[in-house]
Amino acid sequence: MTVVLQLRGVTKLYPRVGVTAIADVDLTVAAGETLAITGPSGSGKSTLLNILGTLERPTSGAVLISGTDAAQLPDRAVSALRAWRLGFVFQQFHLLEHLSVLDNVATGLLYRGVPGGQRRAAAADALEQVGLAHRAHHRPSQLSGGEQQRTAIARAVVGGPDIVLADEPTGNLDSSTGAQIIRLIAGFAGPGTAVVVITHDPTVAASMGRQVRLRDGRVVADVAA
Ligand code: ADP
Ligand code: MG
Repeated sequence: MTVVLQLRGVTKLYPRVGVTAIADVDLTVAAGETLAITGPSGSGKSTLLNILGTLERPTSGAVLISGTDAAQLPDRAVSALRAWRLGFVFQQFHLLEHLSVLDNVATGLLYRGVPGGQRRAAAADALEQVGLAHRAHHRPSQLSGGEQQRTAIARAVVGGPDIVLADEPTGNLDSSTGAQIIRLIAGFAGPGTAVVVITHDPTVAASMGRQVRLRDGRVVADVAA
């Protein structure tokens, strides 16, 4: 088993508002796993995803990304770790309207210092994998919501990340499109890659191999399907 992600005793306090968003969470995720993180609104899902994704630092505890503790690294090194190891998918897609679909996907490799030609070649491959090769030269606004999310998925996976992190990826989609998107994301789990999806949708959660449930910032259930 290749562990790609490990949290040890992770706590996140927001002292100004007196909130403990994440309280002493331990979590180990292996390559090949598809994990749903569920829980009611305010339970700490997004905070946890931001910590898993090294976008926020924990107040205390260790965040190991493929064995490296991000909590111990300076900001520049954390950015490099994120660029090489992680891929993100968000509810709002976060595509750049002034770029083509192909160039949006290519930005997934920007922070690795990969030359432009190679970025675009890899982006074309990734678009093929999400079934959008025929939309490469469109602008994001010319795509359906499902196609926009496919573009965002291609951007997340273009560099072959160790972990794909998705925060409510079906939140802006109808249920049948959402189900296709979830199947597509889950399909990127494999020998070197884990998929973590944050969702409050029980159907989405049930389609993942493992479900971790949060309440008040704590893990209250961790079950394999
Ligand atoms: P969820 O995604 O499950 O709805 P969040 O992780 O967004 O939950 O929030 C967990 C708790 O932390 C909530 O009480 C929220 O108000 C609080 N919180 C989240 N982000 C911040 C922040 N930047 N500053 C202060 N409190 C925050
Ligand atoms: Mg949230």
